[in-house]
Amino acid sequence: MRPFKLGLAVISNQLGLVPRPGWCTYLVCYRCNARCKMCDSWRVKPGAEMTPAQVRQVFRKIGRLDVVRRRVDAIVRNQHRGSYDKAALLLAACAELLRVLGKAQEATALLDDIRQRFPRHRTFQTELQAAVRRMGA
Ligand code: SF4
Repeated sequence: MRPFKLGLAVISNQLGLVPRPGWCTYLVCYRCNARCKMCDSWRVKPGAEMTPAQVRQVFRKIGRLDVVRRRVDAIVRNQHRGSYDKAALLLAACAELLRVLGKAQEATALLDDIRQRFPRHRTFQTELQAAVRRMGA
Protein backbone atom coordinates (compact mmCIF):
# COMPACT_ATOMS: atom_id res chain seq x y z
CA MET A 1 0.00 0.00 0.00
CA ARG A 2 2.85 2.36 0.86
CA PRO A 3 4.55 2.16 -2.57
CA PHE A 4 1.17 2.87 -4.16
CA LYS A 5 0.65 5.95 -1.98
CA LEU A 6 4.19 7.11 -2.66
CA GLY A 7 3.72 6.65 -6.40
CA LEU A 8 0.42 8.51 -6.26
CA ALA A 9 2.07 11.34 -4.33
CA VAL A 10 4.88 11.61 -6.89
CA ILE A 11 2.44 11.65 -9.83
CA SER A 12 0.23 14.22 -8.07
CA ASN A 13 3.26 16.36 -7.42
CA GLN A 14 4.36 16.18 -11.05
CA LEU A 15 0.86 17.17 -12.17
CA GLY A 16 0.75 20.07 -9.72
CA LEU A 17 -2.14 18.48 -7.82
CA VAL A 18 -0.51 18.78 -4.42
CA PRO A 19 -2.97 20.01 -1.82
CA ARG A 20 -2.13 23.28 -0.16
CA PRO A 21 -0.87 23.04 3.41
CA GLY A 22 -3.42 23.62 6.15
CA TRP A 23 -0.87 24.77 8.67
CA CYS A 24 2.83 25.46 8.97
CA THR A 25 5.43 26.17 11.59
CA TYR A 26 7.37 29.32 10.93
CA LEU A 27 10.48 30.09 12.95
CA VAL A 28 10.76 33.85 12.94
CA CYS A 29 14.48 33.76 13.67
CA TYR A 30 17.24 31.51 14.97
CA ARG A 31 18.53 34.00 17.52
CA CYS A 32 18.30 32.52 20.97
CA ASN A 33 20.33 33.01 24.09
CA ALA A 34 19.27 29.82 25.84
CA ARG A 35 21.94 27.53 24.32
CA CYS A 36 20.10 24.25 24.90
CA LYS A 37 22.34 21.23 24.25
CA MET A 38 19.85 19.40 22.03
CA CYS A 39 19.27 22.40 19.74
CA ASP A 40 21.31 23.93 16.93
CA SER A 41 19.24 27.09 16.47
CA TRP A 42 21.65 29.27 18.36
CA ARG A 43 24.59 27.99 16.27
CA VAL A 44 23.14 29.30 12.98
CA LYS A 45 25.14 32.23 11.68
CA PRO A 46 23.34 35.59 11.48
CA GLY A 47 21.92 36.34 8.06
CA ALA A 48 20.47 32.88 7.43
CA GLU A 49 16.95 34.10 8.15
CA MET A 50 14.39 35.21 5.59
CA THR A 51 13.81 38.90 5.11
CA PRO A 52 10.30 40.27 5.74
CA ALA A 53 9.85 40.55 1.96
CA GLN A 54 10.75 36.88 1.51
CA VAL A 55 8.39 35.88 4.30
CA ARG A 56 5.57 37.83 2.64
CA GLN A 57 6.30 36.10 -0.66
CA VAL A 58 6.28 32.63 0.90
CA PHE A 59 3.02 33.19 2.77
CA ARG A 60 1.43 34.64 -0.36
CA LYS A 61 2.31 31.43 -2.19
CA ILE A 62 1.07 29.20 0.61
CA GLY A 63 -2.28 30.93 0.63
CA ARG A 64 -4.80 30.66 3.40
CA LEU A 65 -4.00 28.23 6.18
CA ASP A 66 -6.60 26.20 8.00
CA VAL A 67 -4.93 25.71 11.37
CA VAL A 68 -7.88 26.33 13.65
CA ARG A 69 -10.32 24.11 11.80
CA ARG A 70 -7.79 21.26 11.74
CA ARG A 71 -6.87 21.59 15.42
CA VAL A 72 -10.48 21.77 16.55
CA ASP A 73 -11.36 18.88 14.28
CA ALA A 74 -8.57 16.74 15.73
CA ILE A 75 -9.56 17.52 19.32
CA VAL A 76 -13.25 16.83 18.86
CA ARG A 77 -12.92 13.86 16.49
CA ASN A 78 -10.52 12.16 18.90
CA GLN A 79 -12.77 13.05 21.82
CA HIS A 80 -10.19 14.90 23.90
CA ARG A 81 -12.94 16.08 26.20
CA GLY A 82 -10.55 17.90 28.52
CA SER A 83 -9.69 20.26 25.64
CA TYR A 84 -13.21 20.91 24.33
CA ASP A 85 -13.33 24.24 26.16
CA LYS A 86 -10.06 25.41 24.60
CA ALA A 87 -11.10 24.23 21.13
CA ALA A 88 -14.44 26.01 21.47
CA LEU A 89 -12.79 29.21 22.68
CA LEU A 90 -10.25 29.13 19.85
CA LEU A 91 -12.99 28.64 17.30
CA ALA A 92 -15.16 31.40 18.76
CA ALA A 93 -12.17 33.76 18.87
CA CYS A 94 -11.44 33.10 15.19
CA ALA A 95 -15.06 33.67 14.28
CA GLU A 96 -15.00 36.95 16.20
CA LEU A 97 -11.80 37.99 14.44
CA LEU A 98 -13.37 37.26 11.06
CA ARG A 99 -16.37 39.40 12.01
CA VAL A 100 -14.12 42.26 13.12
CA LEU A 101 -12.36 42.01 9.76
CA GLY A 102 -15.73 42.40 8.03
CA LYS A 103 -15.96 38.72 7.06
CA ALA A 104 -19.17 37.82 8.85
CA GLN A 105 -20.15 35.20 6.28
CA GLU A 106 -16.84 33.39 6.73
CA ALA A 107 -17.28 33.51 10.50
CA THR A 108 -20.72 31.94 10.25
CA ALA A 109 -19.48 29.35 7.76
CA LEU A 110 -16.57 28.40 10.05
CA LEU A 111 -18.87 27.88 13.04
CA ASP A 112 -21.55 26.10 11.00
CA ASP A 113 -19.00 23.77 9.44
CA ILE A 114 -17.73 22.57 12.81
CA ARG A 115 -21.24 22.38 14.30
CA GLN A 116 -22.44 20.26 11.41
CA ARG A 117 -19.39 18.05 11.49
CA PHE A 118 -19.94 17.09 15.13
CA PRO A 119 -23.70 17.10 15.76
CA ARG A 120 -23.50 14.28 18.33
CA HIS A 121 -20.70 15.76 20.42
CA ARG A 122 -23.10 17.49 22.78
CA THR A 123 -20.48 18.49 25.35
CA PHE A 124 -18.45 20.21 22.67
CA GLN A 125 -21.57 21.82 21.20
CA THR A 126 -22.41 23.21 24.63
CA GLU A 127 -18.86 24.54 25.10
CA LEU A 128 -18.97 26.12 21.66
CA GLN A 129 -22.31 27.76 22.32
CA ALA A 130 -20.98 29.22 25.58
CA ALA A 131 -17.75 30.41 23.96
CA VAL A 132 -19.62 32.06 21.09
CA ARG A 133 -21.93 33.79 23.57
CA ARG A 134 -18.95 35.02 25.60
CA MET A 135 -17.16 36.32 22.49
CA GLY A 136 -20.27 37.80 21.01
CA ALA A 137 -19.29 36.06 17.76
S1 SF4 B 1 15.56 24.69 22.15
FE1 SF4 B 1 16.84 26.00 20.86
S2 SF4 B 1 15.51 27.69 20.27
FE2 SF4 B 1 14.53 26.65 21.99
S3 SF4 B 1 15.25 27.77 23.81
FE3 SF4 B 1 16.70 26.09 23.49
S4 SF4 B 1 18.33 26.94 22.23
FE4 SF4 B 1 16.60 28.33 22.10
